[in-house]
Amino acid sequence: TAKRNGRNHCQRFRPALDVQDSPQLGLVSELRHALATGGQLELHYQPQYRLDDDSMAGLEALLRWRHPRDGMISPGDFIPLAERHGLMAALGNYVIDQALAQLAHWRGQGMPEVPVWINISAMQLFQGDLEAALATGLARHGLPAGRLGLELTESVLLDERAGDVAPRLEALRDRGHPVAIDDFGTGYSSLGYLKHLPLDKLKLDRAFVHALPDDQADAAIVVAVLAMAKGLGLQVVAEGVETPAQADFLRAAGCELVQGFLYARPLTVEALEAHWQARSSAGPHAGSARGVPE
Ligand code: C2E
Ligand code: MG
Ligand code: MG
Ligand code: MG
Repeated sequence: TAKRNGRNHCQRFRPALDVQDSPQLGLVSELRHALATGGQLELHYQPQYRLDDDSMAGLEALLRWRHPRDGMISPGDFIPLAERHGLMAALGNYVIDQALAQLAHWRGQGMPEVPVWINISAMQLFQGDLEAALATGLARHGLPAGRLGLELTESVLLDERAGDVAPRLEALRDRGHPVAIDDFGTGYSSLGYLKHLPLDKLKLDRAFVHALPDDQADAAIVVAVLAMAKGLGLQVVAEGVETPAQADFLRAAGCELVQGFLYARPLTVEALEAHWQARSSAGPHAGSARGVPE
């Protein structure tokens, strides 16, 4: 890693050369430190629900950085930084291990045995050994691959640096990992990949959900995506469901799964366990979980 640390050393000895970037480099070394010590990085979990019976179908693990000075930093801010500075493989491996450790911890505690879905960045496909990290983690925690779903965006599939994604994805799915396309519909890619890639789910981007049910164009797109997915044998998860009217439209249109603030925000482990208990004692129609302020 001597080479990767090189830019940091430049910052220390010649700060004036990179004024624009130096606050970021400070954050990069703090992120490196957070990764090494582990304590500041945590996964929050957002439940996905079935629209037909309101049961919980899965959890998405979303990374958070509890920065000692700056407070909670969202992944939209530090993941691009990790990608630019060679930390994404390590960060990705941390997420894999944390999610599996959490699943192992929940085992036998009466939690629904639903899969946890993690987000995979393009960098993980070409920087690190994703396959090995997954296999090692599953073995260490004694879990089957079916419990850990992988979410990839269309842009990951298009990223040339990630090499030929299809055979690697196929190998991961053959081992039992469910695979989803995240932010579906925003990647400007040809639909042809849907024919060739081994997939289980499409996650309809919240951009198409936001203006439902009134926006005619979005309504038409959603109906068309649902019909296409059905024909291809893929499940659809609608992302960013915030209102009952959106949920009603999606249910009527035949969408199977939903995720969004209407049901639950991404929750700390503690808040999720409380949400779980409230639902199991009050029945599945219990109210939504507000989660932690972000
Ligand atoms: P994503 O995978 O598409 O995750 C969904 C994002 O939508 C999350 O933002 C979530 O908090 C937010 N969200 C969920 N429901 C609603 C809703 O009803 N309304 C609105 N407005 N937003 C909603 P978050 O947690 O800030 O994550 C942003 C992105 O960062 C994720 O998008 C994902 O691409 C990336 N990310 C998060 N964790 C990881 C990780 O562990 N690894 C990688 N590679 N990327 C991650
Ligand atoms: Mg995702
Ligand atoms: Mg998404
Ligand atoms: Mg996204």
